[in-house]
Amino acid sequence: MNKLASSSETIGHARRTSERVDVGNVAIGGGVPIVVQSMTNTDTADIEATVRQVADLATAGSELVRITVDRDEAARAVPHIRDRLIRQGVDVPLVGDFHYIGHKLLAAHPACAEALAKYRINPGNVGFRDKRASQFAQMIEIAIRHDKPVRIGVNWGSLDQELLQSLMDANAALETPQGADEVMREAIVQSALHAAQEAEEIGLGANQIILSAKVSAVQDLISVYRELGRRTNHALHLGLTEAGMGSKGIVASTAALAILLQEGIGDTIRISLTPSPGGDRTEEVRVGQEILQTMGLRSFMPLVVACPGCGRTTSTVFQELAQSIQIFIREAMPDWRERYEGVETMNVAVMGCIVNGPGESRHADIGISLPGTGEDPAAPVFVDGQKTVTLRGPGIADDFKKMVEDYVARRYGKQ
Ligand code: SF4
Repeated sequence: MNKLASSSETIGHARRTSERVDVGNVAIGGGVPIVVQSMTNTDTADIEATVRQVADLATAGSELVRITVDRDEAARAVPHIRDRLIRQGVDVPLVGDFHYIGHKLLAAHPACAEALAKYRINPGNVGFRDKRASQFAQMIEIAIRHDKPVRIGVNWGSLDQELLQSLMDANAALETPQGADEVMREAIVQSALHAAQEAEEIGLGANQIILSAKVSAVQDLISVYRELGRRTNHALHLGLTEAGMGSKGIVASTAALAILLQEGIGDTIRISLTPSPGGDRTEEVRVGQEILQTMGLRSFMPLVVACPGCGRTTSTVFQELAQSIQIFIREAMPDWRERYEGVETMNVAVMGCIVNGPGESRHADIGISLPGTGEDPAAPVFVDGQKTVTLRGPGIADDFKKMVEDYVARRYGKQ
């Protein structure tokens, strides 16, 4: 069964019509909720490290996980990774990322071809000149044989140079040539569309093809995907490639994806963040989820509304409580998700003082308004819009967490 179809979701806007593609137990496109996916950065030949990271990403909520398949050792490892994950109870579909020699690897390692739920093919580096068509065809034929969908994933860093050159030449011959950027964007779109058409002519169904056309500049990405959305019904995988590190990567990805998602474009997303050294790879999953949730497109985790604090909250109590509630909810979610259906839609407010505290807390399912500087050291708690108790003393954080826990059990527990 499609897990997504059974979860509680909110679709708040008109989605572009797209083909539905089933990738293992997850559906993409066709109006089903937008899927969050991620990619490992381990050496796939290192089975243990890859299993661990895929499991971490899946536990964080990644609904598909892509792994690099770049050589024989990696291809040989794939079925073992799949089996180990299943033995651990992790049934997340694995996507194989192929470049240059994907046709050889898939042909030489049928167990790998079978273990993967989808193949990512980059039409810009599947082969060059006369080999391009035959090597692309070999990959598509293997996908058909194993009944697997593919993502035709164009990336402007590895764009088909022959196609680009032919469009540049045609543009130069025009009376009023377009700018090089426009020609580049058109080449990216055409590369994806041509490859999809070739795949269909070879016999792959439209419901087995997902397209992506990633660039690293926000305005280019918006323009390319608007064009793809206008010219094809294939399901679309959205992502800003090489988004970067930290807040820059998050902001750039959010700026680009939010505009497209708001226009109904995009069936699955991946946030390409560069982790800091030793950083947490699962951050990209959380960011993807938070984009969708804050836009009201899906719910993954209770949202904690917290004010930014100001001169009225001179102590750190407020920041510490906001942070500890956030961590508490994140850590409780794997258990809550199993036991409390709908808990991901809960809103919790943690507010700094009386100015907006009671008002915001009343709007949340459960909220607390801490005392600001000079206020009576008391923290009223609001449940379903009603003030219930006032917490005092050093145990406010623990008392409030207990109240949140009780609220979750009461409201979302099976009757
Ligand atoms: S709710 Fe109070 S503490 Fe928070 S930002 Fe507003 S005035 Fe400042």
